[in-house]
Amino acid sequence: MTTTSGALRVVKQPEAGMDLAAAEQAAADFIAALGVDLDAESLQDTPGRMARAYAELFTPRPFDLTTFPNDEGYDELVLARSIPIRSVCEHHLLPFVGVAHVGYLPGSRILGLSKLARIVEHFACRPQVQERLTKQIADWLDEQLHPKGVGVVIDAEHTCMTLRGVQATGSTTVTSTLLGTLRADPRSRQEFFSLTGVNG
Ligand SMILES: [Zn+2]
Repeated sequence: MTTTSGALRVVKQPEAGMDLAAAEQAAADFIAALGVDLDAESLQDTPGRMARAYAELFTPRPFDLTTFPNDEGYDELVLARSIPIRSVCEHHLLPFVGVAHVGYLPGSRILGLSKLARIVEHFACRPQVQERLTKQIADWLDEQLHPKGVGVVIDAEHTCMTLRGVQATGSTTVTSTLLGTLRADPRSRQEFFSLTGVNG
């Protein structure tokens, strides 16, 4: 992450680089090892598609984190609800999808609203567990914006749980992280949860 002209450029660097050709070869080996015949014409491009699909799921789009002075002294909750979320569970490498509700109580700076969705994407586009993802979004907002409080709720369906294993079709998992006033003050906490539609 680098700072240019007041905006923070947020870019996620792949931890160990990304080798698409190696991923494609590995995908071909993986599929073949599961007994699937890759000679069928319709499957010929599948390893490459699979490699590119995962590469895309692990690569968030860079964005500029622009903040503005809170000149009006707005001190009520700012909440972006139902931000679509898609990530990949790090235990099975299967997708989990759902929504995130992200809010903060402004301090001296406020944020462009679309940035809340970009922050969610930034941390979702990597192998994840929902608990960590929830906390990373909250902690990052806290560090970058120094708001009076931060609240993040994620409600997601994990396909490793609904399509396989216990096959708990339709079940979703809810996680939340509250910081600052939203954590300490019961009324702020209650307001946040009622606005997100989650019973706190
Ligand atoms: Zn899983």
